[in-house]
Amino acid sequence: MRVRVLGAHNLETGRARHTCFLIDGVLGIDAGSLVSSLSLVEQGEIRALLITHQHFDHARDIPTLGLTTMGSAEPIHLYGLPATLESVHAHLLDGQVYPDLTKELNDTPPRFRSHSIEPDVAFETLGYTVKAVEASHPVPAVGYIIKSPSGRCVAFTGDTDGDILPILQDEFAPEVVFIDVTYPNRLQWRAEVSGHLTPSLLERQLGPALSASVRLPKIVPVHLSLHERDEIREELSAVAERLGVELTPGYEDMML
Ligand SMILES: [Zn+2]
Ligand SMILES: [Zn+2]
Repeated sequence: MRVRVLGAHNLETGRARHTCFLIDGVLGIDAGSLVSSLSLVEQGEIRALLITHQHFDHARDIPTLGLTTMGSAEPIHLYGLPATLESVHAHLLDGQVYPDLTKELNDTPPRFRSHSIEPDVAFETLGYTVKAVEASHPVPAVGYIIKSPSGRCVAFTGDTDGDILPILQDEFAPEVVFIDVTYPNRLQWRAEVSGHLTPSLLERQLGPALSASVRLPKIVPVHLSLHERDEIREELSAVAERLGVELTPGYEDMML
């Protein structure tokens, strides 16, 4: 199982991209930078997308990926909460901003086949077993736990300010968990109103878990706010030192 970090931030520049991941070249997690980070051939190899929620930095490249792969006979499977799929359809694939690529278009087969998911109900896609876990965010949102056919497991919290321990301790036993740490500690108020974590809020969850001898997976903070990135990294280093754990912030093109 190879996880490629396509984007690790909440904003975008020439070098930094929106939060987005690709597993084994075929399974995308969110679509914030699918098109901007991949070649045409790589985009054509994507077979399924798991969308955590409807926010633009997570859904943006769905229409453009559909157009890029117009020549393909096979649709890309699109998974998300019903509210997420409805929002993407209503605002991005509405026939005005972009064509409705969930339908046949000028004799071209539909580019996307939508699948509604439910939290805590596992399903199979491309041979992977996937379970969505409810997240705490201003709109309906989930994280995903993904187990490969060979038994390797990785998880993503998606955007959340909620309890991440259920993901860290899930029975699927993820080896790596990508966690939303968007703001530095001094902007905790902003994290709380927008549904994100800070290094301090993360520490408040990890500390008690470690005291209870919970074995933690490798943790990779992502969705870092670009304006405060250095500050967040410094605060994460301090948390890692205090707790005696490894916290390696994600970056573009990181491979695991
Ligand atoms: Zn969001
Ligand atoms: Zn976001």
